[in-house]
Amino acid sequence: ERAEFISYFHQVIDRLEMNLPEQITFKRELPKGRYHVWIDKDKMTQVLDNIISNAIKYSPEGGVIRLKVENKRHYLLISVQDEGIGIAYDKLEKIFERFYRADKARTRKLGGTGLGLAITKELVEAHHGKIWAKSKEGKGTTILFTLPLMNQKRRVKQ
Ligand code: ATP
Ligand code: MG
Repeated sequence: ERAEFISYFHQVIDRLEMNLPEQITFKRELPKGRYHVWIDKDKMTQVLDNIISNAIKYSPEGGVIRLKVENKRHYLLISVQDEGIGIAYDKLEKIFERFYRADKARTRKLGGTGLGLAITKELVEAHHGKIWAKSKEGKGTTILFTLPLMNQKRRVKQ
């Protein structure tokens, strides 16, 4: 369905913020304008829930999670940045594989199946987007994905 992404994203964040562990805070960096995208809202909500719940799960006490949307003309760039344990450089691509969990010892006690990001990647690609990760061990992780914008108004040159 056609949706205005910024107001929809605010709603998703509002809901997650209500159940946020006390010591963790969200910081929103969303543009003021209206940006229309073609999404399956249930699936996009699953994408955002998965990425943001990882950020919460792997954040330290007092951690700040930045939720950002940037307008890149033909698409939106959505990013979720945390100040958590980070992911080793050689494991950055593997986290999108089924059942992959980066640091068995550290992540075992946090629970999970290692399916979250594999499903997330499939759903982002079903929306014609791309997803990738940046990270520095011990400093934090950023998960980024793109979403094509609808309704590009084109000027016809005569
Ligand atoms: P599930 O989401 O299925 O409950 P999970 O969170 O372990 O389990 P994914 O969401 O697929 O699985 O993530 C895969 C692995 O990537 C995680 O086990 C973790 O090692 C690493 N990872 C994902 N997000 C982060 C993050 N924000 N910070 C640090 N490591 C992360
Ligand atoms: Mg997960």
